[in-house]
Parts: sequence; structure tokens; C-alpha cells
Amino acid sequence: MKKHNFNAGPAILPAPVLEKAAESALNYEGIGLSVLEISHRSAEFKSILAQAEELARELLEIGDEYAVLFLTGGASSQFFMSAMNLLNEGDLATYVDTGSWSAKAIKEAKVFGEVEVIASSKDKGYTYIPKGYAIPENSKYLHLTSNNTIFGTQFQEWPETEVPFVCDMSSDIFSRPVDLSRFDLIYAGAQKNMGPAGTTLVIVKKDILGKVERTLPTMLNYETHIAKSSAFNTPPVYAIYVSMLTMKWVKETGGLTAMAHRNEAKAKLLYDAIDASTCFVGVAATEDRSLMNATFILTEEKKGLADQFLADCAAAQCVGVKGHRSVGGFRASIYNAMPIESVAALVEVIKVFDGKHG
Ligand SMILES: *Cc1c(COP(=O)(O)O)cnc(C)c1O
Repeated sequence: MKKHNFNAGPAILPAPVLEKAAESALNYEGIGLSVLEISHRSAEFKSILAQAEELARELLEIGDEYAVLFLTGGASSQFFMSAMNLLNEGDLATYVDTGSWSAKAIKEAKVFGEVEVIASSKDKGYTYIPKGYAIPENSKYLHLTSNNTIFGTQFQEWPETEVPFVCDMSSDIFSRPVDLSRFDLIYAGAQKNMGPAGTTLVIVKKDILGKVERTLPTMLNYETHIAKSSAFNTPPVYAIYVSMLTMKWVKETGGLTAMAHRNEAKAKLLYDAIDASTCFVGVAATEDRSLMNATFILTEEKKGLADQFLADCAAAQCVGVKGHRSVGGFRASIYNAMPIESVAALVEVIKVFDGKHG
């Protein structure tokens, strides 16, 4: 039996996607070759790449003024690549610091320009989303992390701003509709909510590029990848293929609006159980709770029971519930591919635990 997979990333993929991916690893569409052993210049792979781009465009309603790229290096490379491609030396970039991933993005941007951290939730252990700050008009861009995978907070609305808007959507891309016109650059490592590890989706408004004076290494220049449709060098073919299958599954199951409804129902089921329990408390501020990563801890008196709870989870086939090493406690990642039945299985563990120890 398949376990209930609450891992934060790499994370759960839809069952039909895994089946198709497994079949294609042996024989892609009956051509007598694995998808893993065909040329990235073949008609077959070109079609996969074109479908991946088309599906991303359709799901997020991406207009022609944006390029859609599938790159390598993870979201971590986008921390520096975005800054490198958008900032001249001395230029100002504004960041909102909502967790470890934001902090890493800030560190990299400082290599290429001046960084102002306009708001931070570090004062309360990144348990909330800062609000009500003014964005300097002379900023080259504003950078946010839409969903804080480690701390379990998520932006529910975007700040009003005139400056270009850069967003790390690694852990909530395709989880809900977004008004794409608000953004100038979006990046997302695939392995949370879009596919397997190995590729990073980049959506970039073309007219913000080409304005920096520094010489960009060829591979680190977005314009290289735009000119060569993500195939300047050998792209991560299997990661792109499985991401394409996953996007197709999102489309076939109703698109982003239906996905958002299912994600809301799953998160409600879990948060309601946490709120009703006497043993557990949620980590994130209620209004900023993530629909993707629910973080919770045992109350002070019950703290000693952490290993017992994890053992109960394991016995119920619920895996990946241990919190990030920097935060402790528990984290249940309930990405798009997670069925509500799996969330219900975890909720049952919480309820039984609460009945026994509460
Ligand atoms: C996982 C994650 C990253 C880092 O992704 P890599 O692909 O490992 O570089 C960055 N930002 C967020 C929000 C993440 O969840």
C-alpha cells in the first residue's frame, strides 16, 4: 500500500502521473525507447517541452509578454540569477523577509546590488506575514516568497506596488489562481508542487531584461534561455517530462480554481483538528496560515510526547510529518497531489492522540 506522504520536498506526485512516468521510463509512447534515452533535440522531446510551456501558460493565463522557461539549479540559483539579471551595481532591491528562503534570497541579492529589507517577521520566529509597509519607489524590484515552506505561512494578498514584482513561488505554484499581470518574474523549483526535483520554472516579463551593464555568463542570462526555448544546453528532460504530466493532471482535474477549492478543504480539515485539540497548537498566525504546509507543535505540558506522536503517525502510514530541523515540531505538507483521504488519515491520528493524552 502507498503511504500517506506529507514530505515537504521532494514531495508527493499524483498517482496517475507516477504510473505514466514509470511506463514512459521503459517505453515512451510505444516508440521502443525510454523517454530517458532520447535526444533533447528529438521531435518527441521538443513536443514535451512545448506541451509543458503551453500547459503552464494555460493554467496561469500567461500572456505573450512573458517568457516561460524550464531551467536547472533550483530556486536557490534563482536567488542570484534574478538579482544578477535585474540589478546594476548600486541599484536598490526591496525584499520582504518571511523565512529562511527569503533570507537566502536576500543574501544572494547583496552580491549584485543594494538590498533594503522593508519588512521581516523574524522577530516572531517567522510565524506571520508582515503587512502595511511602504515600498521605496526607486527600487528596481520587490521580492517576496509567496509561501514559506518551512514556517507554514503564506501571502493571502499581494502588496500594492508600482515597482517590478519578483516572487519565489516554489511551494505554492499551481495551488491557486494568481493574477499574473501583477508579477514581472516568478520562479519555482519543481519539487514541491509541480513535479520532481531537477527543473525550475521561470516566468519572466521580457521587457524587464537586457538592462544591466555587467557581462552575464551565458548560462546565467535569461535571454540565452529565451532565445533557445529552454534548450540552450541539455535540459533536465525527465524532470520537465514529469512536470508536464503533473500540469496536465492539474488541468484535467479542473485547473487552478478547482485545485484551490480542494486545497482549502484539505487545509481546513487539518487546521480544524489542530485547533480543536488540547495537545497541539498551530505555529503560524491564523490569518497567514499556509494551505500547503501546516506547522504545529505540542503544547508545553505535552512536549515530551513528540516521539510518541511521530510513532503513531508512522503506524498509520503517515510519513514526513516531522518539522524542519530549524523549527522542530511538526509539519504536514499537503500539496496539490495529496488526496483529502490522506489528510483525513492524519487528522484521525491527531484525534486519537488527543483522546489518549489530552
Ligand atoms: C525548497 C524551496 C527553495 C529551494 O529550492 P531548491 O530547488 O532546493 O533550490 C526556495 N524557495 C522556497 C520557497 C522553497 O520552498
